[in-house]
Amino acid sequence: MTIATLTEEQQLIIDTVREFVEREVIPVADAMEHADEYPDKIVEQMKEMGLFGMMVPEEYGGLGQPLTVYAQTMVELSRGWMSLAGILNTHTMATYLIKSYGTDDQKQRFLPRMVGGDPRASLLMSEPHAGSDVQAIKTRAVKDGDDYVINGQKMWATNGLRSGLCMTLTKTADTDPPFKGMSMFIVEKEAGAERSGGVIVGKNIEKLGYKGVETTEIAFDDHRVPAKNLLGDEEGQGFIHNMGAIEVGRVNVAARALGVATRAFEEAIRYAQQRETFGKPIAQHQAIQFKLAEMATKIEAAKMLMLNAAGLKDAGERTDLEAGMAKLYASEMCMEVCTEALRIHGGYGYSKEYTVERLFRDAPFFLIGEGTSEIQKMVIARNLLKKYKV
Ligand SMILES: Cc1cc2nc3c(=O)[nH]c(=O)nc-3n(C[C@H](O)[C@H](O)[C@H](O)COP(=O)(O)OP(=O)(O)OC[C@H]3O[C@@H](n4cnc5c(N)ncnc54)[C@H](O)[C@@H]3O)c2cc1C
Repeated sequence: MTIATLTEEQQLIIDTVREFVEREVIPVADAMEHADEYPDKIVEQMKEMGLFGMMVPEEYGGLGQPLTVYAQTMVELSRGWMSLAGILNTHTMATYLIKSYGTDDQKQRFLPRMVGGDPRASLLMSEPHAGSDVQAIKTRAVKDGDDYVINGQKMWATNGLRSGLCMTLTKTADTDPPFKGMSMFIVEKEAGAERSGGVIVGKNIEKLGYKGVETTEIAFDDHRVPAKNLLGDEEGQGFIHNMGAIEVGRVNVAARALGVATRAFEEAIRYAQQRETFGKPIAQHQAIQFKLAEMATKIEAAKMLMLNAAGLKDAGERTDLEAGMAKLYASEMCMEVCTEALRIHGGYGYSKEYTVERLFRDAPFFLIGEGTSEIQKMVIARNLLKKYKV
């Protein structure tokens, strides 16, 4: 296990986010979620706190924090409202991509602006026919003079409308295997515009939960991107770049699942001490106590897996296996804990009057985003078979 010790400053960052969530987020989150309202004011406050530049090195104006600290702030934000962490997630993956793989020119041009959240970034990988099977994407970038011309259709773009910068995975060559012909572009567009150049943003997809933040289709129609915006200035590296960012994304999903599960547990243990049946609080029935014990134990186990994966990534190790385990366990755990929390609330858990109803609708997203549970199991098994090869 690689669990990093925090400095006083790092603990202060996490505590500050927790206090912010208690003060500014928890009182309004249920109402905003039910109204599917974009949290403009809260996002402005998150910008002021420097959260959009959390993992960007200080030389570019960021907070220069490791994934271990970033992930723990995502737990806190998601404990309030997981959509806030969703607004940050694709942006942080974009800053990670540019910081890790960008040319000096790309770092200078984009990172100092991104730390303030203007522009904000989206990450366009999935397509209507290709989610798990990333190598099946069809969006194509063709070199034309000093530009690349992009055509294709992206799906499930979190922050699709409000982002001013889209990290876009494309095919630049037909190769066998296909991943060798994939390239990532930094595509600039006008934030909030339905069309800028050849980038066309579709309507907001209505979702079960994860509301407030928009999820859209994005089409590219002969959109020209300067060649200097090819990430790392080298074709054929896009899949590898994407996989590096996805390790960060998987730790991030584990952290968000942990935040939602923690809140569901807190709501359940409070309710269990207030609600009485058969002459005593339901918390005094052993069946409810066993549920609470299992919920808290699973949350703790997920936290260890998440911190281990983050610590390894911070140490510069490949974390396919550990990030996959953390994401798989935390997302399945979150669904189970939210279901138990809803059941502890009885009929009231099914009512929008209680926060647990929202948490129960948010939880399934974690089973899907950044690779489904089935895909995590494939990644984990592949790594185990490599590690224990006979
Ligand atoms: C709210 C939301 C936000 C999202 N945001 C983004 C975003 O910002 N950017 C982005 O690029 N994408 C985003 N996604 C897309 C997400 O990453 C994909 O939905 C996910 O990877 C699954 O892909 P799919 O939906 O195409 O499902 P499919 O790949 O079609 O899978 C369907 C089912 O088949 C299973 N399956 C697939 N292949 C196998 C296999 N080999 N073996 C066993 N089972 C298999 C899957 O586990 C799943 O159960 C978002 C999705 C959602 C719902």
